[in-house]
Amino acid sequence: MSGVIHTAPLVVPISRPPVRDGAVAVRGGRVVAVGPRREVLSGGGEEVRWPGVIVAGLVNAHTHLQFTRMAEVGRQVYDSFEEWSNAFDAVYFSSAGADWAAGAREGARLALRHGTTAVADVVTDIEAMPVPAQAGLAGISYLEVLGDTDESWQRTGRDHFVSTVGRLRGSEGMVGISPHAPYTLDTGVLADLAVLARRFRLRQHIHLLESAHEREYTVSGTGPIAQLVRELGFDFEILRAGGTGHGPVAFLDKLGLLGPHCHVAHGVHLDAEERALLRERGVSVALCPRSNRTLGLDGPPVAALLSEGNPIAVGTDSLASSPSLDLLEDVRVLHALAREQGYREPDLARRLVEAATAGGARALGLDGGPGRIGCLEAGTRGDFAVFGVDPDERDPYRTLIEDGPGRCVATVTAAHRNGRVHIVNPATEPRRGC
Ligand SMILES: [Zn+2]
Repeated sequence: MSGVIHTAPLVVPISRPPVRDGAVAVRGGRVVAVGPRREVLSGGGEEVRWPGVIVAGLVNAHTHLQFTRMAEVGRQVYDSFEEWSNAFDAVYFSSAGADWAAGAREGARLALRHGTTAVADVVTDIEAMPVPAQAGLAGISYLEVLGDTDESWQRTGRDHFVSTVGRLRGSEGMVGISPHAPYTLDTGVLADLAVLARRFRLRQHIHLLESAHEREYTVSGTGPIAQLVRELGFDFEILRAGGTGHGPVAFLDKLGLLGPHCHVAHGVHLDAEERALLRERGVSVALCPRSNRTLGLDGPPVAALLSEGNPIAVGTDSLASSPSLDLLEDVRVLHALAREQGYREPDLARRLVEAATAGGARALGLDGGPGRIGCLEAGTRGDFAVFGVDPDERDPYRTLIEDGPGRCVATVTAAHRNGRVHIVNPATEPRRGC
């Protein structure tokens, strides 16, 4: 079997410059060649001709697919993280018996429909853990941990967590852990999770500096987040000690949580010193600007992160805080934000499309090895999206950002043997043969 050769007027492999009249050959779910159409076709194989642009599959570096059916929460606009958090909790805690796996399956379908082929999926309810892999998505399901004091963790939480992880590691898909945030776990639990992640060789993903009040909480144990934590009945060490004297990034770093095995979400309120520490630790930041907007927050400091060289990725977050799972919409918002924040370099569009592909792969630690994703080159998973946009004379990356949102016509994943078409949106059937 010589595989399938997908051709299009423009191919954007990410790891090399875009190829006009290009081709991607896929065999056994892996890319075997990328280049000019004539050249790749000379290697033999069935041709599938696509209109528009083929781009490496998008990587949604922060989402919660199980909350797809909580879109009612995400359709409102809030004044603060705390206001949104209360609205979210009211719906979540009244959802006893909800079929979270079914919600996650709907989310996976939406993600695929918009060209996403890999996710960092934070999972609160264990039944949603295997869903991304079952749906054909690459990436990692991060088991979320929150709401444990040091005492409850030692009493039952730790044993339960260790046995759950042991069970999950034998099932479908890659497993990671997500200590939810610096304010929803006691200090000793956060430190222990850092130890356990290393012991089990699990990647970590943490919400960080989404709320404007997170800093006040870790520095002095005061403010709206401290109040929220008290109202939830958690007697955390930070509250008893009157804070740690450190901002959230330094706090997590001292507990051993930050390193290249970890990526964080949001980072809306990162200051220059914190951005430098994250760079030093090799921690990617998944930016979710439309979710931030729903919560009434500022946009993340994308211009500074780009200028200073922090590794970044892009996430939609869940439908409980975002209008859609169309990752390119977030890229478009980041593009506008970066310009507003003063980023003037001509590489902006390219760097943001890279953030949504190769940047996501790096954030998840999937930019190397046999299952690598994030670009199209020999050896990567045969995951790509086709956007029905006019591959005109513009910068191809700008074309994708300006015209790509809502225009994915097909998503192809390695989960389908020989790179067969996974989803076709409108009536844009590919043409077969020359
Ligand atoms: Zn989130």
